[in-house]
Amino acid sequence: MTSMINVRPRPYHIPAKEAKALADWFLRKYIEPYVKDEQPTFIDISFNKKIDTLGLCSDEQDNEYLVEVNPINGYNHMMKTLCHELIHVKQYRLGEMKAVTGGTKWKKKKYDLSTPYHDCPWEVEAFKLEGRIWGIWQRTIEGRCFLR
Ligand SMILES: [Zn+2]
Repeated sequence: MTSMINVRPRPYHIPAKEAKALADWFLRKYIEPYVKDEQPTFIDISFNKKIDTLGLCSDEQDNEYLVEVNPINGYNHMMKTLCHELIHVKQYRLGEMKAVTGGTKWKKKKYDLSTPYHDCPWEVEAFKLEGRIWGIWQRTIEGRCFLR
């Protein structure tokens, strides 16, 4: 299984190396051991000032995901957002969450588009775990290599 992570280059400073290393670690620790097929996973990370949210995660096709992080906030906030979006990648890739017509299917239950943001179980999980994941990463040998 040769999964791939790509961080799109930007003319301004972004923590590209750490974003790639973090996503790679997350993929190996929280996604790949639980994937039920032999297909690789592709994560495209884009630091994007133009999105009108802090972050976005899109399920493209063929196990390819686009993670967008708004770099307007400081380093810590931005990296926590990256963790949040990677949790959504995990939810999509492990089949816990799926976009369906008119809403989102989460563990077999459909939530329509009117479901309040903070009532969506995938958001509850992502908000609950983003800080924990960010903290664990910072204490790993790899995570400690990045100066801040
Ligand atoms: Zn979210």
